[in-house]
Amino acid sequence: GCQSGSGDSQTLTAGTAPGFPPFEMKQDGELVGFDVELLEAVIAATEYELSGWDELEFKSLIPALNNGNVDVVAAGMTINDERDEAIDFSDPYYSSNQAIVVRENGSFSPSSLDDLSGAAVGAQKGTTGESVIKDQLIEAGTIPESQYNAYGNYVLAVEDLLNENVDVIIIDVPVANSFVADRPIESAFVHETGEQFGFGIQSGNDELAGALNTGLTTVEDDGTYRDLTEKWFGQ
Ligand code: GLN
Repeated sequence: GCQSGSGDSQTLTAGTAPGFPPFEMKQDGELVGFDVELLEAVIAATEYELSGWDELEFKSLIPALNNGNVDVVAAGMTINDERDEAIDFSDPYYSSNQAIVVRENGSFSPSSLDDLSGAAVGAQKGTTGESVIKDQLIEAGTIPESQYNAYGNYVLAVEDLLNENVDVIIIDVPVANSFVADRPIESAFVHETGEQFGFGIQSGNDELAGALNTGLTTVEDDGTYRDLTEKWFGQ
């Protein structure tokens, strides 16, 4: 939780959900990724201090903020109205759309959401990829609810795609690019959602929001942000 430390600095616990490369993942047992380094750089540019990272399932991150177990979330989390009711966000730090990912050289090569008719579809629980499935595929009658497979994390969803237990997974484009790079899967098409990622914080913590936004500006101005995008996205 957020405590007043000695002097002026306050200690923050960060929350994330590994299995979302290259934003957050485990490498040799260590938590690494763009979000991890970006948030650490942003906090280093503020009066706050980071005490450490809690690794949770994605769907547990907003509850963890609300019950005070974590103070800030960096998890490729899309800023949207529904979440804005429960938590606050920093300014946006990355943009994304949703990729529709299939097995490479498979017989199934959809080019629109309508083409997913009857397909077995997977996503990570509590994500905007799941929202596309619920709001645009199930609601529209394109697939029955029983064809939606919800996973605790995207690594498991990708495994089930490779195992042919699902036909398609719906996942943020930059993360799809990372999974696709070293597996026999590919992005069939992109569904434009125009999402923007922000750091999540407790509702009403304007002081922390202001500090994170100032910190983001600092790391954008001093080249750190560009260095991190080059390191983790190669661009
Ligand atoms: N950007 C997506 C969302 O906010 C997925 C995030 C994630 O799976 N870590 O729902």
